[in-house]
Amino acid sequence: MSNSSLVTYKKIVSNKDPGRGGKKIDKIFVHHMAGNLTVQQCGNVLSSRQASAHYGVNGKNIGQYVDEADTAWHCGNYSYNQRSIGIELANDGGASNNWHVADATINTAIELIADICMRNGISKLNFTGDLKGNLCMHSYCAATACPGGYLKTKFKYIADQVNQRLSSETPGKPPNKNKWLNYQLPFTVKVTDKDLYIRSGPGTNYKTVKVSGSAFIKPGVYTIIQVKEAGGYTWGKLKSSTAKSPRWIALDFTTKK
Ligand SMILES: [Zn+2]
Repeated sequence: MSNSSLVTYKKIVSNKDPGRGGKKIDKIFVHHMAGNLTVQQCGNVLSSRQASAHYGVNGKNIGQYVDEADTAWHCGNYSYNQRSIGIELANDGGASNNWHVADATINTAIELIADICMRNGISKLNFTGDLKGNLCMHSYCAATACPGGYLKTKFKYIADQVNQRLSSETPGKPPNKNKWLNYQLPFTVKVTDKDLYIRSGPGTNYKTVKVSGSAFIKPGVYTIIQVKEAGGYTWGKLKSSTAKSPRWIALDFTTKK
């Protein structure tokens, strides 16, 4: 167990229990603050109440109040507290605004949750709408309005966004540094080299494909619909591929348009 390197403010509070009773972190609870607190203010509030959470988010800022190795008092059920991480999100709207949460806060929370999942071996978030899933609401464990009407509608989006980040990463491994694999498909590339082969598959072991009499791709802009790493190169499948004639080029010799 470790802590997130994304944290911008740290204030460890005393309302917590050391350790997790031997339990592994396998759930994440997203709460709302029921107010527009800065991450510093959130830490002060948690110090003054019989409650705590591991993290708080407002805009780009992430506060940490309890180490991930310790049990925070956030979801109203001790057993679930022992196996979960609690995150408080700031509201930029009040009760009359359905406890709105700013996009920036949700986006920061998505990056934080992806980081928590990667470090704790959670390979996928399942939002099931109850405690069977691993992305949970406070209201599943206790009679509370938390996380508020607006945030409740964003849980599926949060899970999808986190899973997109997790699918290109292996838990526990550093983030993928291959830029080509991180672009959202389809994308376009510019070819300027006059001697870049078109091949029938992703790798130099695949035979070259002649298009209009030449096995070299004509300089220009092309749409890539699939990306694969093979033999030290990153290969892109051309949109002009057909079922009978797949066409791949080495993206390493192109530039992203
Ligand atoms: Zn809550």
